[in-house]
Amino acid sequence: MIQEINGKSAISGAAFISDGRFGNIQNFKDYVTNEFDVIDFEKNAIISEIDKRIYDLIDINGEIGQEAARNILIAEDFKKIKNIISSKDLVNPLKDITDSINYYIHKIHDIGIDLQDVDIFIVQEFPHPFENVIGTAVNFDKADKIKYNIDEGIYFQENRILPFATSILAAHEIIHKIASINAPYILARGLEEGLCDYLGTLFLCGEKIGVPLCLNYILNLRFGFSPTRFSERYRTSLQQAAVFYIYFGFEGLFELAREGRIKIEDSEKHLLNGDIDNIKIDKKGNWIKEITDFSIRILNFENTLVVSPLALLIAQKIHLGDNINEFFRENNINRKEGQSAIKELQDMYFVLISDGEKITSDRSKLYLDTNVMRYSLSLGD
Ligand SMILES: [Zn+2]
Repeated sequence: MIQEINGKSAISGAAFISDGRFGNIQNFKDYVTNEFDVIDFEKNAIISEIDKRIYDLIDINGEIGQEAARNILIAEDFKKIKNIISSKDLVNPLKDITDSINYYIHKIHDIGIDLQDVDIFIVQEFPHPFENVIGTAVNFDKADKIKYNIDEGIYFQENRILPFATSILAAHEIIHKIASINAPYILARGLEEGLCDYLGTLFLCGEKIGVPLCLNYILNLRFGFSPTRFSERYRTSLQQAAVFYIYFGFEGLFELAREGRIKIEDSEKHLLNGDIDNIKIDKKGNWIKEITDFSIRILNFENTLVVSPLALLIAQKIHLGDNINEFFRENNINRKEGQSAIKELQDMYFVLISDGEKITSDRSKLYLDTNVMRYSLSLGD
């Protein structure tokens, strides 16, 4: 099936590079994008549909309970998505992928790595025996040609291609391509995944579209899905690469990519053992402050603070010492639902504590200000 590029794909792609408060990007996309299926891939049409949706979402009748809170938070995230779509060119993602790959090859060449032309394949499913791989893109290398007779190149699954997001993913894939030059027969896994996030998504793509959007993309991709063994593995690889980067900088990461998979596996072993001093890297240097700060952030990321919408909304507004019933009255919050949302925050590792009348302890601002406290779309118990 050829996916139609429309308003829905634009919203989905833009969500990936936004700093939305949603706790799970997949659920968020599934929940909010349906109406955009019939909207053309055209900036003004998409923006006016977003405006309509925001208008409806914040049109609250009666008290604020979980459902109204969810609508208010979604409206806030729609505003962020709207900002992205209005400030960027809407480019057909297939063209964007090709242009981006040419840009990345150019940059890689400037760094002193000679990368031959990269072939791009847009496919309905990945070639045999990888047809069941769930993912948007895979780099098939020399070893895949020898073992499975798959032509070398980066393969994209057509029905998963998104504006904004897939051209960022292409930067990740192109680093696999570099890493596969030496020892392609070793499977690309583990630390190599984190290496691709760092060199591809953060470094190469950061230069192209600006680092902040790439940081959002990484957070959404690696911390914004329901945990599965698969996603946790990618997250660990990212964190391993973060430690490597803090020690050796982008110079060290590029040396690792150039050296290839034997060195990558060896480095992963030392990271797993904790004996990082045994990693032999000649070049060290080139740290980018924003990315160094981000590296510390993802090593400390608190992933357990996805709460119900009303709990998040209350946490944003309530303060230490507030009388709870007065707070509900003043903020038009439904008392019963509000009380169970406060209980939720208390049960959740004491983010808030109340004595039944007043708020007696409040750690919520710490988690809100650092953006780790996010909302789920489910409406609590
Ligand atoms: Zn990968």
